[in-house]
Amino acid sequence: MASIKLQSRPRPGDTFTLPSGKKVEVRDIGIPWVLPPAAVCDDPLCPWHGHLKVRLKLLEVAVEKARMRKAAVVVHEWLHYIRKYNRYERRRRKLHVRVPECIEVKPGDKVIIAETRPLSKTISWVVIGKKEDVTEWKAKHETLQV
Ligand SMILES: [Zn+2]
Repeated sequence: MASIKLQSRPRPGDTFTLPSGKKVEVRDIGIPWVLPPAAVCDDPLCPWHGHLKVRLKLLEVAVEKARMRKAAVVVHEWLHYIRKYNRYERRRRKLHVRVPECIEVKPGDKVIIAETRPLSKTISWVVIGKKEDVTEWKAKHETLQV
């Protein structure tokens, strides 16, 4: 497992060679307003450089802990409307997400996560980029439906 940093942001379709000699192509994940990270890895479960497919369910969340290897705990907060009182209540939920090797997260970071197939008992989301990698926020699912 290896990852290299790039000087500039790649485009989907660009190919890079890792120090191990392995060629890695930056994939088009189907979400044009999230830009690929300025790094390349050979993680098979990376949406940009591996085989992991993402679904179009996106959330913007804050990283709470990043102590696990290739995984993190994130907090999703959203407002839920209560019609009887004409007000919103705050809801929050912690999620375990996968962090590919090319994306580094630390507590406090705002990241965009996408739903994937279940990767482990508790993980079915993957980080696809940081908030600064987003050109335009177009998620259809800004709030988690309970
Ligand atoms: Zn990667």
